[in-house]
Amino acid sequence: MRLNIDCQRCGAEDELYDSGRCWTCVLEDDVDRLLTNPDTGTIAKELAPMATALKSMKRSNSGVTWIRQKHVTALLQELAVTPKVTHAQLDALPNSRTREFVRGLLVAHGSLPRRDVYLARYKAWATEALNRVDDQRNRDVIAQYIQAAHIRRMKQQAGPVAHGTFLRSKQTVTVAIDLVNWLSDHCIELHELEQEHLDAWVNDGTTTRLMGVRFLSWAIKTELVAPHLDIRAHRRGTSPRMSADEQQAVVERVVHTEELHPRDRAAAILVLVFGQQIEHVAGLTWDHVKISDDIVTVRVGAIDIALPDPLDQPWRFLAANPGHDLTAAHPVSNWVFRGYSPGQHINPAQLRHRLKVVFGTRAARLGTLHELTKLAPVAIIAEALGYHPATIEKHATDSAVAYSQYIAAIR
Ligand SMILES: [Zn+2]
Repeated sequence: MRLNIDCQRCGAEDELYDSGRCWTCVLEDDVDRLLTNPDTGTIAKELAPMATALKSMKRSNSGVTWIRQKHVTALLQELAVTPKVTHAQLDALPNSRTREFVRGLLVAHGSLPRRDVYLARYKAWATEALNRVDDQRNRDVIAQYIQAAHIRRMKQQAGPVAHGTFLRSKQTVTVAIDLVNWLSDHCIELHELEQEHLDAWVNDGTTTRLMGVRFLSWAIKTELVAPHLDIRAHRRGTSPRMSADEQQAVVERVVHTEELHPRDRAAAILVLVFGQQIEHVAGLTWDHVKISDDIVTVRVGAIDIALPDPLDQPWRFLAANPGHDLTAAHPVSNWVFRGYSPGQHINPAQLRHRLKVVFGTRAARLGTLHELTKLAPVAIIAEALGYHPATIEKHATDSAVAYSQYIAAIR
């Protein structure tokens, strides 16, 4: 049986709960008690709007049940004595749905600014990313880089951090981590960094590494590395990327003249037309090559590259003359590109050197990837979003099919 008499506190006729008070009054008293700072005897100004909101919950009996849970009581008491409530202070409290509910109330009532979602996500991401730095000293450097060059800049911007900035900053730091880990793999301290290390690192990977220039210029400014260092391909005007015209001229020499040895032409075509890395080309065996009457297919990595006429000609020549350069070092060899050392395939550096007569393989590869990405905007997007390099190469190779047909057709 429910007994409705007047509340001793507010006089309303209602279901009474505790010491002659109605549910609404009990909730009000609870909120006041929990949010009052015992030192000042008052509720902090910034908590007042939230207090009002809590008190005016429609179902005050549910409100009382909620507020009297141990973790909610603890959280509100904690807030009551906090000198100034900030997102960071809330972050320091144990993560719970209650904490986020209270954060939401504080934001909704203007006591906390709306949180910068991407800034918060970036900070959380950066904390994780630091674990991927192998060396402790480098980890400190990257932490400093994240703070000074990214988070500080994000905070200086008017308004919340944009999604694009968030993605770019993630990718830039990922590349920086890749560089310092590569250095520690090669037992090189950051302060010992030389131009040749940077060149090797860039050469070793995909064009994404060119973004390392952002970390490098910060490291130069903060005097962590020597000022003359550069990631060259990134500079406008001095880019070693082969221009489309140069590329056309080189393709003409490689594909349509016999200036190079067929073996070098075969390699050159994979680099020039298909943007393949010389390292992958050097290790090809005849098991990777399929020759039919119509077409020659070469499997590089996980990709089958189809070579239409005239791109197939050096391959057909080599296949038809398998023994023409067998030597004592290679009495029986399955390598397409035999090395100087017995039983080894050609060293990529040697192959690069041989092709240098006609073109720089790196510049050609970059030029080709550039041309190919024109045909496949998705590749550019992939790169900007920091997809796995293999994805870019895949897209590039797909469009290389179109490019190779174009080259075959311009004869
Ligand atoms: Zn009452």
